[in-house]
Amino acid sequence: MERLQKVIAQSGYTSRRKAEELIKAGKVEVNGVVCNVLGTKVSGNDVITINGHSLEKENKVYYLFYKPKGVICSMKDEHNRPCVADYFTAIKERVYPVGRLDYDTTGVLFMSNDGEFANLMMHPSSHLEKIYEVSIKGILKTKEKKMLESGVYLEGVKTLPAKIKVVDVDDEHGTTMLMIRLIEGKNRQVKKMFESVGHPVKRLHRIMIGPIDLKGLTPGSCRRLTPHEVKVLR
Ligand code: URA
Repeated sequence: MERLQKVIAQSGYTSRRKAEELIKAGKVEVNGVVCNVLGTKVSGNDVITINGHSLEKENKVYYLFYKPKGVICSMKDEHNRPCVADYFTAIKERVYPVGRLDYDTTGVLFMSNDGEFANLMMHPSSHLEKIYEVSIKGILKTKEKKMLESGVYLEGVKTLPAKIKVVDVDDEHGTTMLMIRLIEGKNRQVKKMFESVGHPVKRLHRIMIGPIDLKGLTPGSCRRLTPHEVKVLR
């Protein structure tokens, strides 16, 4: 027997958090009876329906997507802007972004229908390394670099140690190009970190998550992750 929200998340229908919201909203039925109690235990024989549709047991699929600029990290947008889901209409599984990149950020994004995988990847304890290429306004001083590396306070919480490598300083345009390596992924973390030391981010590109980079991909293209890659990421 498993908890209802876990079974829904594992089916790939949505994340566990969203599954909990659906349950609380009374959208989920078990064997024809509305079940709005979180944590209800269900077995493989129970028939689960969400908004009247029975829960399909999909194959788990995992993609590496090269997110282009100007694309929203969601399934649909109320203003009709392009969404990551638009790039996955040719596959039968409904895949969701694992974590998020801002509208103007490019680079590595995983897409999957495995809610457990998404939860693991996004959990604060995962400490999976993420490397970003960043272009910032202004020239980063050594003192500021050290502050960012040892941790700055964002909304009262200190960021974990980071590593920064300055790649190029453009005195003429007053910009610094650098790489930053983080082991956490709070909302808009890179931008907030640089803003906190007075250097707004002009361009942001995620080049790697763990051992996975964008080799062979172009903006807007994707490939399946190999079973070995999925195992390494977990
Ligand atoms: N940090 C940000 O500020 N934005 C992103 O899109 C990713 C990391």
